[in-house]
Amino acid sequence: MPLRVHPVIASLTPYSPGKPLSELERELGVSHAIKLASNENPWGPSPKALQVLEGASSSLHRYPDGGAHYLRQDLADRLKVAPDQVLVGNGSDEIISLLVKAFLSPGEEAVMADLTFVMYRLAVLGGHAVPVEVPLVNWTHDLDAMVKAVTDRTRLLFICNPNNPTGTMVTAQALDRALSQLPDHVVVVLDEAYYEYVRDPDYPDSLRYVREGRPCVVLRTFSKIFGLAGLRVGYGITTPEISGYVNRVRPPFNVNSLAQEAARAALSDDEHVAKSRGMNEAEMTFLEEGLKNLGLSCIPSQANFLYFDVGMDGKRVYDALLKEGVIVRHIRGSMVRVTIGQPTENHRFLDALKMVLAVLTSVQ
Ligand SMILES: *Cc1c(COP(=O)(O)O)cnc(C)c1O
Repeated sequence: MPLRVHPVIASLTPYSPGKPLSELERELGVSHAIKLASNENPWGPSPKALQVLEGASSSLHRYPDGGAHYLRQDLADRLKVAPDQVLVGNGSDEIISLLVKAFLSPGEEAVMADLTFVMYRLAVLGGHAVPVEVPLVNWTHDLDAMVKAVTDRTRLLFICNPNNPTGTMVTAQALDRALSQLPDHVVVVLDEAYYEYVRDPDYPDSLRYVREGRPCVVLRTFSKIFGLAGLRVGYGITTPEISGYVNRVRPPFNVNSLAQEAARAALSDDEHVAKSRGMNEAEMTFLEEGLKNLGLSCIPSQANFLYFDVGMDGKRVYDALLKEGVIVRHIRGSMVRVTIGQPTENHRFLDALKMVLAVLTSVQ
């Protein structure tokens, strides 16, 4: 008997993770390829996290603490909320899926931008629910239009701030206005994966809304500035009521023991965060200048990546850069996203881009 798969599931495109660096190097015959495609911290993990990992491995025969007691306590202390307001997940990706599972039934709606983190759409479709996609304005979330897109069937509204892939942010004022207009049955997901990189003083203090008891979830992660993407750990700050519902659908051991220990150490390493943030800022300025010198304009970014227009088919530029051992992300049309790397990586990216654009322009 043939498999019976729901057409919605069959129609999904699996997330494309890309090949391991070593495999790519072998296929392309290049060495020292650089990956500027996933917005990881190019400076690596916090040294404090690496240190605790050595000690933590001796208890790998035990299941992890299913309640992530100490990690949640640390986060609660630092963020001035109660521990029952802290959710942890196997990356914040998992928390997105758990929110969908807890709040969206088949046919119900989740409002999101039309150019934002792809996991929202995938998770919502996977839950047989309906993504309602609202176009960006000036590469930024159009919160007024998103509020207008809310119906009786809306359960979740995703705001990626700063937005991946555009790097733009919504201001405190804009968010305040939107939240004051939203009905209480909508859970607002404020995805702040790049929170620690933001420099704009108009960035919202989103935890304030959680402390006020509004129905929102602030998502943050150890995958970006904390440099622990490989361990998979993210967290959400929300009301005790919302975390109670998410915990009903959460698998008991969703964050592994090494991740819990390393995350606690990384959280305490203010020096690593400050250094990473400073380097990012300096290198972003360097890359922006470099792109400008190539005649390319990029959108001002509050994160650790730049989104820019290559002025031709972005896929061709992506492929050509790949052959030079430089991996970026082609988003759509002529738009490409590059993660801010270490200085040598950024130089190499700019050199490769300059060469590739010259070649592709001459054969056009
Ligand atoms: C990278 C990223 C995440 C983090 O995902 P993890 O599962 O925590 O690694 C979440 N949201 C956005 C917008 C991101 O870019």
